[in-house]
Amino acid sequence: MRLIFMGPPGAGKGTQAKLIAAQKGVPQISTGEILRQAVAAGTPMGMKAREFMESGGLVPDAVVIGIIEDRLKESDAAPGYILDGFPRTLEQARALDEMVLRMGHKLQCAINIEVDEGELVERLLDRARKEGRSDDTEPVIKKRLQTYKEQTEPLIGYYAKAGILKPVVGTGSMAEITDRILAVINRL
Ligand code: AMP
Repeated sequence: MRLIFMGPPGAGKGTQAKLIAAQKGVPQISTGEILRQAVAAGTPMGMKAREFMESGGLVPDAVVIGIIEDRLKESDAAPGYILDGFPRTLEQARALDEMVLRMGHKLQCAINIEVDEGELVERLLDRARKEGRSDDTEPVIKKRLQTYKEQTEPLIGYYAKAGILKPVVGTGSMAEITDRILAVINRL
C-alpha cells in the first residue's frame, strides 16, 4: 500500500493518515512532523527549516526530498506507507515519481481531502488554540493557505493526469471521513 494524502492545511489529512496507517499496518510519513522534530532537536536541518515553517512558506524542495529519500529506505516502509504532507510542489512530485520507479514500486493513489476555504481558517484557528503550534497564528494561517494554492494545488491536476487522484469530501465527522477514505482504499 503506497498512498499520498493531500489536501489544504486544516483538511485533517494528518489525523486521517495516522488512523488509516495504524489500521493498515504501514507507517504514516509526515514531512511536517519530521521537520518539527528537527527544529526541536536543533539539528542543522531544523535550523535551516525553522524560518520557512514559521512564516507559512515551504521548506526548500531539496531538503524535503532528501528527508523522504532517506525515510523510504527504512525497513518499516518496505511493505508500504502513507505520505502525509509530501509532495507539496510539482518538483517534489516528480522527484517522488523517480524514487518510486527506482525502487521498483508504484504509487497506488493520491487521496485528496476537499474542504471549503472558510471552514479551513476556522479549523486551523481552533487547532492553534488546542495545540499551540507556532505556525497557527492568523497571519501565518493565511500565508499557509496562499502557499497551498500557489504551490500545492497544481498537484491535483498532476495526479489526475496520472490517473491516480481520488477526491474525498472532507466535511462531516472524523469517522465519516475515515469511512470514505477506507471505501476508496479498499477498492484499490
Ligand atoms: P504540516 O505539518 O504538514 O502542516 O507542515 C508544517 C510546515 O512544514 C509547512 O507549513 C512547511 O513549512 C513545512 N513542510 C512540511 N512538509 C513540507 C513539504 N513537503 N515541502 C515543503 N515544506 C514542507
